[in-house]
Amino acid sequence: MSRQMGDSHRRFLQTMMANGIVDEQGARKLIAHCCEASNAQHNPDKLDDFIETINLKLQPMFMQITKGMSEDSGHQFYALVNMAETDVTRMSSDYADNELELFRKTMDLIVCSEKGNASSTDILNSADTMTTKKLKKSETEHLLNRLVHDKWLNEKRGEYTLSTRCIIEMEPYIRTMYQDQVKVCHICRNIAFQCQICENPACGIKIHNPCVARYYKGRAEPRCPACDDFWPHEIPEVRRPKSQSRK
Ligand SMILES: [Zn+2]
Ligand SMILES: [Zn+2]
Repeated sequence: MSRQMGDSHRRFLQTMMANGIVDEQGARKLIAHCCEASNAQHNPDKLDDFIETINLKLQPMFMQITKGMSEDSGHQFYALVNMAETDVTRMSSDYADNELELFRKTMDLIVCSEKGNASSTDILNSADTMTTKKLKKSETEHLLNRLVHDKWLNEKRGEYTLSTRCIIEMEPYIRTMYQDQVKVCHICRNIAFQCQICENPACGIKIHNPCVARYYKGRAEPRCPACDDFWPHEIPEVRRPKSQSRK
C-alpha cells in the first residue's frame, strides 16, 4: 500500500493548517475535493489511512492530525495538533500576555465547574484578580468574542465551554495542569467537561452527554455502568450528522 504523500495530501494539510479543525463530514468532502483537484485516486472508505499517511510525514515536526469528539454533538472532528506545544503559550502569537492570563482563568473556571462551563459574569469577575495588566469589562467581552471566533471557546446563552479544538489540542496540557480536577468519561475514556455525573457519592463517574445518549439507547432502565445505581438524569437523544440522517 502506498504511504507516499501526494499532492492531494498536501492540499488537505494546507487547509488543515488554515482552519485548525474540521468535522468528519467536512474531512471526507475535503479529501474528495483534494483528490479530484490533484487527479489522485480517491477511496472514501480509507479516511483514516489518508490521515495516517499525512501523520507519518508530520511526526518529525511534532505535528499530528488527531481525532476527537465534540462534547456537544458527539460528532467526530480532526484537529491539527502541535505535539511540542500543547500549552496555552502556543497562542502567544495571537494574544497578549494579559489576554492569555484571562484565558487561563476561564479554563480554571470551566475545568473546576461541575457542568464544564463558566458564565460571562464569573469570567468578568475573575478579571479583577489578574496579576498582569488588568482588562476592562469591554476588553474582556471583546476578548471572549475573539476566543469564540478563533475556536478556542464555545458560547451559548452567556455560558462558555471549552471548544472541541481546545480539548483536542490542549488535552496533554489540561491533563497535567488539572490532574486532580480532570476526570475521564467512563464510556469513551476521553477527558470530560460537559457531562452527566453519577450521584452516588461513593462513585461519581462522569459520562459525556453524547456518550450517555449512545450508552443508554435501547436499555430499559438506566443504571450507572460503574456502581449500578439508578441513573437519575434525563437521557439525551443520539444526534446524527445532518447529511447522514437525511439519506
Ligand atoms: Zn465520552
Ligand atoms: Zn455510579
